[in-house]
Amino acid sequence: MRSAKIILCALGILCVCATAQRTSSQSTARAPAEGARVVPTRERIVPTRERIVIAASAVFDGRGRVVRDTRVVVEGSKIVAVDPKAAPVTYDLRGLTVLPGWIDAHVHITWSFGRDGKSAGAGETTQEAAYAAASNAWLTLTAGFTTVQSLGSPTDVPLRDAIARGALPGPRLLTAVEPLFGQGEKTGTPDEIRAFVRRQKQAGADVIKIFASQSIRQGGGMTLSQEQLNAACDEAKRQNLRTLVHAYKEAVRAATLAGCTQVEHGTMATDDDLRLMAEKGTYLDPQAGLVIENYLLNRERYLGTPGYTAEGFAAMEKVLSLNHELVRRASKIPGLKIVFGTDAVAGAHGRNAEEFIDRVRDGGVAPMAALISANSLGAQAVGMADRLGSIAPGFEADIIALDGDPLTDINAVRRVVFVMKGGVVHKNVARGGGR
Ligand SMILES: [Zn+2]
Repeated sequence: MRSAKIILCALGILCVCATAQRTSSQSTARAPAEGARVVPTRERIVPTRERIVIAASAVFDGRGRVVRDTRVVVEGSKIVAVDPKAAPVTYDLRGLTVLPGWIDAHVHITWSFGRDGKSAGAGETTQEAAYAAASNAWLTLTAGFTTVQSLGSPTDVPLRDAIARGALPGPRLLTAVEPLFGQGEKTGTPDEIRAFVRRQKQAGADVIKIFASQSIRQGGGMTLSQEQLNAACDEAKRQNLRTLVHAYKEAVRAATLAGCTQVEHGTMATDDDLRLMAEKGTYLDPQAGLVIENYLLNRERYLGTPGYTAEGFAAMEKVLSLNHELVRRASKIPGLKIVFGTDAVAGAHGRNAEEFIDRVRDGGVAPMAALISANSLGAQAVGMADRLGSIAPGFEADIIALDGDPLTDINAVRRVVFVMKGGVVHKNVARGGGR
């Protein structure tokens, strides 16, 4: 983890500045009561059975409401009450903005840079890659992301399971295992595609990822027929799995007509396509900046690895402005459900919140709408609207705090000073000096 941070710092990227630590009394305002509750037991990371009371002056409930001067009560892994009279206070987060842990609908959590410094891509199984994946999970969690969907790689599975059993700290992880790569007729018959979907389910997939377009770096043409897409998304539905479709241009409409759950990227979708998505309830997960900014920042580390050419990089700069334009148009389509997904790859893990800034600054999205896309709406999109993405009784105690008010300064999303996931505090650091 340390080396990953040094690499990030060396590149002049925003550093994830604080390691989670047992709370000390350095922050008098936020010092917890005796017996601080960062609770990695010897074997597993588990929540305490004790009651935790968090005092806050501003709580965003994840659905657009701001509650002032209240207290959030946590027992075990769950929020049990929001009650201004609850006592005694365990964590005093007054002066900060408290909100539900964020959900990133699209990451590649195992991608890292290899020993040669180059992107090792999705399938690397060296020990270095395994440690890097664990580091990515930690960086992502401490950046405020308590749930992420990894789309996907079979190497996600052991990481997901280690986090779920409390052996490693990280965000709750959902994975697509092996994506379906559209390659025209070679992809297979509709029956073969259905069998592929069932195999992913057997391998433990939480969601099915489908590539229905070429990479935008290669032009973004459609790689699956309507019939093939219909088969993939219909079979997933039968298996009770959601479908996330990498789609540009005409593939956006095709995925929507096929009844797929969510469109990833969506670059060059027309307003008509977006209106059809709104009508059908198809989620859109566009990327306003981080993924391309990260590629451009790490150009030399990607260049020459499979799929990354000089021409591709030249195309990316153009795509970045198309993406800004898409977010601007999409956010004006009534009823279109836009979720938060970064497509974080090597170099971007732990910087996921940059996408909020991009959406607000370059995509014209209202800050509260951007935040909801990673809270209640993001939870709805992953089929966990009753468990995640809101601060309310009965929900998972995924609670973060920002130093600042993101409604007036969206850059506050970079200043995550408190992270609780499932009732366990993973980060609690004092505010920086001078404030
Ligand atoms: Zn992706």
